[in-house]
Amino acid sequence: VINGHKWFTSGAIGASVAIVMTVTDPEAQPHLRASMIIVPIDNPGLNIIRPVPVMGHTGGGGHCEIRYEDCRVPAANLLGPVGGGFMIAQARLGPGRIHHCMRAIGGAERALEMMCRRANGRIAFGEPLAKKQFVQDMVATSRMEIDQARLLCLYAAWKMDTVGKKEARQEISMIKVVAANVFMNVLDRAIQVHGALGVSDDTPLARMWRDGRMLRLADGPDEVHKQTIARRELARFAS
Ligand SMILES: Cc1cc2nc3c(=O)[nH]c(=O)nc-3n(C[C@H](O)[C@H](O)[C@H](O)COP(=O)(O)OP(=O)(O)OC[C@H]3O[C@@H](n4cnc5c(N)ncnc54)[C@H](O)[C@@H]3O)c2cc1C
Repeated sequence: VINGHKWFTSGAIGASVAIVMTVTDPEAQPHLRASMIIVPIDNPGLNIIRPVPVMGHTGGGGHCEIRYEDCRVPAANLLGPVGGGFMIAQARLGPGRIHHCMRAIGGAERALEMMCRRANGRIAFGEPLAKKQFVQDMVATSRMEIDQARLLCLYAAWKMDTVGKKEARQEISMIKVVAANVFMNVLDRAIQVHGALGVSDDTPLARMWRDGRMLRLADGPDEVHKQTIARRELARFAS
């Protein structure tokens, strides 16, 4: 029987099941306290309160607020062992995070292309924006950041494939922070080069920014990843 209140369950609208991670043994060691349980979306006691509006929008499957109120499911719905929730989350989060990174890099690439096309086509103060050094700096910096992020992403993926997800944790955290920030940086420059058009909804840039901003939070905020990156780095030189 599950009782709880969860904010931000992405894609709940239209889904057939929710995977609930919930504390099943509060006395166990921290990493053995939670379990994962499959709950059909129409199960009595699973109450979708609302899709939480994100930057003014509620579309798609929503980022839903859900209340679990005496939500009873069969024991067979347990995913893996009791207390195995953290372990499953860790196994899933690595590939999930790097997938977000690949999307972010693809989005940044698109934003850079739009930035360049606009810079080449828009005449301001007697010449194309592309002739202005401030704009060239934005293009060059974006190109450098994207390629650095792509190579780090490929490196993290290669490490996952060759030595395993656990051993690649540092690189996964690193690219999680880098890709989300590069995406934001490049989008911001693309918006700047587009002028007022950039913040309008007449190009995809504003929507990309709105959708992309969550990547610095979801699957762990930048600061949490940086903290673990720093801890591992410091531990290498602790003795
Ligand atoms: C659009 C969107 C969709 C989401 N979808 C899902 C989903 O489907 N399923 C799901 O389970 N979750 C989902 N989340 C939740 C997401 O994983 C959390 O928002 C994220 O883990 C951060 O937790 P929090 O919001 O409680 O922030 P908090 O933990 O309150 O942190 C707030 C801020 O405090 C700072 N901070 C926190 N910890 C530290 C630290 N250790 N050191 C320094 N600074 C720190 C950071 O700046 C952080 O951004 C989603 C979030 C968003 C925005």
